[in-house]
Amino acid sequence: MSQDLLDYDDALAIVLQHAQPRSPHRLPLLEALGRTIVEPILSLCDLPAFDNSAVDGYAVRIQDLDHTSFIVGRELRAGQPMAGSWLPGVALRVFTGAALPPETGAVVMQEDVSVVDGRAQLSEPAALGANIRRRGEELRCGTEVAPAGVRLSPALAAAAAASGNAEVAVGGPLQLGIVVTGSELVTPGSFLPPGRIYESNGTGLAAAAGAMGLGEALVRCVPEDLEATAEAIRAMAERCDLVIATGGVSVGDHDHTHRAFEAAGFERVFWGVRMKPGKPIAFYRRGDRVAFGLPGNPLSTMVGWCVLVRPFVRKALGLPEDVWLEATAQEVIRHRPDRLEFVPVSWDGAGVRSFAARGSHMLGGLVGANALARIEAERGDVAAGEVVRIARLEWFDG
Ligand code: AMP
Ligand code: MG
Repeated sequence: MSQDLLDYDDALAIVLQHAQPRSPHRLPLLEALGRTIVEPILSLCDLPAFDNSAVDGYAVRIQDLDHTSFIVGRELRAGQPMAGSWLPGVALRVFTGAALPPETGAVVMQEDVSVVDGRAQLSEPAALGANIRRRGEELRCGTEVAPAGVRLSPALAAAAAASGNAEVAVGGPLQLGIVVTGSELVTPGSFLPPGRIYESNGTGLAAAAGAMGLGEALVRCVPEDLEATAEAIRAMAERCDLVIATGGVSVGDHDHTHRAFEAAGFERVFWGVRMKPGKPIAFYRRGDRVAFGLPGNPLSTMVGWCVLVRPFVRKALGLPEDVWLEATAQEVIRHRPDRLEFVPVSWDGAGVRSFAARGSHMLGGLVGANALARIEAERGDVAAGEVVRIARLEWFDG
C-alpha cells in the first residue's frame, strides 16, 4: 500500500466513475420527508381548484353589488357545491371554502352583516371580488409546485398533498450492507469485558446511511477471521448494491479484509489514499457492485464515509456533488506537511475552529463539528486568518 498512495482527488474521481445514477423511485410523502426530490412536483389540479369563499359570510351576485339589503338564501358549505338557481336580491349564506357559483360578485364577512327578520343588511355595498379565492390564483394544473433538487420539507409535503400528489420521486433505492470486523468488539448495551471495546462503526455508518434516507442498512459483525469475513461479504454482496467493510484493511497480521474481498470475488480498484485520517481506505468492484474497505478507527471510518462513500451515494441517487466553500481559520489548525488532512471543524458562517481531540480513535471532534476542513498535503500549520476549504457536514442531506 504505502509505496503508491493515490491522491485523494484521484481516488474520488475513480469512485465517482463507478457511480451510475439510478433511476428514481417514488415514495409516499411521509417516507420521503427530508429527501431531495429528483423530479419536479407538478400540481395535479388548479389551486384553488374552484372559486371559493375566503370567509364565513354572505355571497352576493355581481348584478346585486350595489345593494345593501338582501333576502338570506340557502347555505353553501365547503364540499357542497350549489345546485339550482340564484334569484336576484338573494344573498347566499356561505362558509369558508364553499364553492361559489360563477355569478358571485363578492362575499361579505359575517362580521359586517346584520341579519334582521331574515334580511341581511350591509353597512355599505360589497366591493367586486372581495373575499373570493379565485380558481388557479396560486397554481395552474400541470405547473411546478417545486423543482427537482429541493428537499421535501414538511411545508413542501403539505403543498404536494394539496396539489394532489401522494408520492414524490427520490433517488435510489440503494441497499447498503456493512460488515464490521474485529474480535475485540462488543455490542453496546452488553457487558464490556477487559480489553474489549464497544462496536461503533456499524452504528455510525448505518446511521449515516439512514440519515440520507437510504433505508435500513444490513449490518453484520464478524471476528478477525478470513473465512468469516469473506462469507459475510459474499452474503452482503448478494443483497446489497454497496458493501462497506470496516476494520482489518491495514497491513497487520490480522488484517484479512483485502483477502476476504478477493475471496468473495471482488477486484481491488485501489488501496491506500494520501489522506488523513483514512490512509488504508480501499475500493473494490464486482460486476455492478462496489465496496469500500474503511479503516476501523472510528474517526477514519466516518471521515471515509463523508469524503468517499457519501459522494458515491449522492451521485448514485442523482444528487449534485458536495460544495466546498472557503472559510477563515479563527485560530491555528495544526497540520504536518505529509498527507491531505480532513479536520472536523465548527464553522459559524465565516470562520472555523478545530477541536483539541483529533486522534483517529476519537469521535468527539466530529460530534461537535458542522463541517470538515480540507488541509492540503504540502501545507504546514494553518495560521489564524488563513483560508481553508470546508464542506458542511450535511448528515441528513440525501
Ligand atoms: P483495524 O482497522 O481493524 O486495525 O482497527 C483500528 C482500530 O479501530 C482498533 O483500535 C480497533 O479496535 C478499532 N475499531 C475497529 N473496528 C471498530 C468498530 N467497529 N468500532 C469501534 N472501534 C473499532
Ligand atoms: Mg481490526
